[in-house]
Amino acid sequence: MSQKHLEGYRESEISKIKNQQETEMCQELADGLIQKYLTGPAADQFAKWRIRGLTSSILFDGFNYTERRIKRETNPEYVAFFEKLQAHLLDRLGIPDKWYRNDGKFPKVKNWYWNGHFNYDPHMFYKSVEDIKQSFLKELFGITMSIDAGMPEEDLQELQKFMEDTSKPMDRWVPIQKKSILKICHNCGRELQVETDGHALRLVGPCEHPNGYPAYSVEVDFPTGEVVVTNDLRPWFREAWVRLQDSDHRLKSGVFPGDLDLNGTRGVHYTALEYSYDNYMTGYCGNTCPAVWRHPDHPNTLLIGNAPYCDANGDDLDDDHPILEGYEKLVGICTDLWWFSLADKAFIDNKEPLFRLYSEDMGGCYLGTDPTIIEKHPIVHLEPGRYRVTNHHHKVPDGCGELPKIYAVVERVGDCEGTYE
Ligand SMILES: [Zn+2]
Repeated sequence: MSQKHLEGYRESEISKIKNQQETEMCQELADGLIQKYLTGPAADQFAKWRIRGLTSSILFDGFNYTERRIKRETNPEYVAFFEKLQAHLLDRLGIPDKWYRNDGKFPKVKNWYWNGHFNYDPHMFYKSVEDIKQSFLKELFGITMSIDAGMPEEDLQELQKFMEDTSKPMDRWVPIQKKSILKICHNCGRELQVETDGHALRLVGPCEHPNGYPAYSVEVDFPTGEVVVTNDLRPWFREAWVRLQDSDHRLKSGVFPGDLDLNGTRGVHYTALEYSYDNYMTGYCGNTCPAVWRHPDHPNTLLIGNAPYCDANGDDLDDDHPILEGYEKLVGICTDLWWFSLADKAFIDNKEPLFRLYSEDMGGCYLGTDPTIIEKHPIVHLEPGRYRVTNHHHKVPDGCGELPKIYAVVERVGDCEGTYE
């Protein structure tokens, strides 16, 4: 793709993204539907929640889906049916009225199945996995549960049949989407939806990583071995950045849009993978400000991580910058963006950084260090070749300050795969 072509392509992609956020556009669609189906007081009542309810459906579920929902939600027979079904499920599934017991603990939800999701490493977060799961359930059921009136006809018929005989579960599971579940499963990156067989509720799945997301690797070429090591080099790799915004490209490459949610490990993995195709090595490391370490016996291997900051008793070490025993500290990375970045200088020299990407197109987000002033970034000298970074930040426990924490390992795996002038 030529530079000029790319410029137009990028502009159109960015305007597409911007348009998706335009609530005015959604409002117009919503108003059109209301005029079509509703008059009198019902129209006024409907208008009260149209922005919250309707715009999200139009954005994520499509126009026809919303049209169907409005038809049903304005038909008294359907409304009565949905209310009855909801009451039945709440009762049968034992969703608690109060979310905190006197002792501050969460009550259990009966007949609830995780379907493999949320199986996080027990020491991954400052909260226990059980607490994370319970607060998810609290959020899920904390507001009145509603059966989605926009569900397809076949699902509705199945539920109607079930209401006539509730003694046994349905033959299949029917999705009963909540209007908005913003949480995703960190392991698989899925947006979570709920389905029922009438006797139980479960998350739609199964989770693709029921045993947790594994450590993952990506590879790039460092043809000169003069490697810039810093926080953020995206301004020099805008082609990859554009591809990451392009849902058509992601679908073609087998990556579904939800998978790129950066709140999940799968999303950060796929993002790192996309950048690696352009020889940009990057990885999520949280707000850890890691250092880059090298052992004299392994000159082409870099460890990205932090040395211990306290002793075994939990007392802070005196030294502000404690060392990792036996290793040389090459670079410190200030994680304004919670990622680390490495790229051969050959891919940065003679290239214009795309500063506008930050100041305007990305909403003027704060980045601290100006990422476009390349001279400020330190260089690490490595033997030219192909390098692999293996990232397992998501496996490193919080706390345990008496132990070194290594989030990623960069190692030479052979000669460059590409040819460079
Ligand atoms: Zn999952």
